[in-house]
Amino acid sequence: MKYSELFGKTAREAPSDEIAVNARLLLKAGFIDKLISGSYTLLPLGLRVVKKIEQVIREEMNTTGAQEILMPLLHPKEIWNETGRWEKARDVMYQFEKNKKEFALSFTHEEIVLDIIRKHAFTYREFPIKIYQFSTKFRDELRAKSGILRGREFLMKDLYSAHTSQEDLDKYYWEVKDAYLKIFQRFGLKAYVAEAAGGVFTESHTHEFQILSEGGEDTIFYCENGDFAQNREIAKVTAGIKCPKCSGTIKEGKSIEVGNIFRFGTVYSEKMKVQFTDASGKKQLVYFGSYGIGLTRLVGTLVELFHDDRGIVWPKVAAPYQAHLIDLRSNLQKGDSAERFALYEKLQKAGIEVLYDDRADISAGEKFADADLIGIPIRLVVSARVDRGKVEVKKRNEQESKIMAVEEAINLIN
Ligand code: ATP
Ligand code: MG
Repeated sequence: MKYSELFGKTAREAPSDEIAVNARLLLKAGFIDKLISGSYTLLPLGLRVVKKIEQVIREEMNTTGAQEILMPLLHPKEIWNETGRWEKARDVMYQFEKNKKEFALSFTHEEIVLDIIRKHAFTYREFPIKIYQFSTKFRDELRAKSGILRGREFLMKDLYSAHTSQEDLDKYYWEVKDAYLKIFQRFGLKAYVAEAAGGVFTESHTHEFQILSEGGEDTIFYCENGDFAQNREIAKVTAGIKCPKCSGTIKEGKSIEVGNIFRFGTVYSEKMKVQFTDASGKKQLVYFGSYGIGLTRLVGTLVELFHDDRGIVWPKVAAPYQAHLIDLRSNLQKGDSAERFALYEKLQKAGIEVLYDDRADISAGEKFADADLIGIPIRLVVSARVDRGKVEVKKRNEQESKIMAVEEAINLIN
């Protein structure tokens, strides 16, 4: 992509009403645009990051045997009445009336999934069912001041599973926990699996995945050895005591909840009469679980964790492009256009996603500042200083640059 043609350029300042680090940097660097508080457009750079993250999650979800679907966002009141959540979740749900019929915008999808399952699966042979989607959720959030960490409209990966026994649900629940840890690890994030209810010795039915960060809204107590964590809201431990699981010490820290897993058992299937016929021909209730990852919240989390005073420092797997090419050969700016684009084309032919700052009339200083702000992992510079066939390479998270042959740079990036 030629930067001159990219829609969504860097800005000198972030809007003054935006206080969250993640949104300030993403706005300034041209990844997002703000419509209202808690509601953002993903511009081309932002959408590329989301797609990268989505692909990592998709791979790990597919590895657990889950299949991708896409569900509607407009839901009739009747389906929410089946579980009583039309009333119970009134505060968070966007509900409205149109032509004397009541609807809600999706804030989650348990009821919708269970309705699909009761229409499509009838016998034990069709279980377990593991289905997931990437889609929008609408929530009337009061505290929409954490940038894209808390949206009124945001992207979530939501996975749902249905089983013929509690044991099978439990087994898959822990498999998803491992898949989640792997996902966060692939982004370079250390996730603490926090108990959100239940105690140390009774097994909790729900767990949160928390990333330590000053930008977070949650507070967790966690073991310094990483084998135990609880959300402060329900905590039975406190900072300074010995970990209930090992000899480590419990610490306290602000954190971001990037994911959440729930085991509902038969609570919802009972209300919605979601059943299967077992091997002996008897009708049984299905065991149900749901598992979420905040996709856009994850983008914000990466920015909160990986930035410096100059801008974002994307981990390679989430970066919108792999290389940021800058051409400072002012003598070429007007004339020899084949030469000007030769390296850009060569990199692309080598399968590298390149953002090429081809702008004329922009100083080297400004181009470097923009590259740092945008945060692509590797910066490549061609200039009068660098011999033909060579390029100056600098990693975003390092100070020193190195001059190397183009082939060597390609190997480094790949
Ligand atoms: P929170 O306690 O932060 O409100 P939640 O418990 O309501 O989260 P879930 O309903 O479990 O969240 O949703 C699954 C995931 O979706 C969360 O772990 C989080 O990563 C993300 N998420 C939830 N609410 C929002 C929001 N308003 N904006 C962005 N992401 C969100
Ligand atoms: Mg919430």
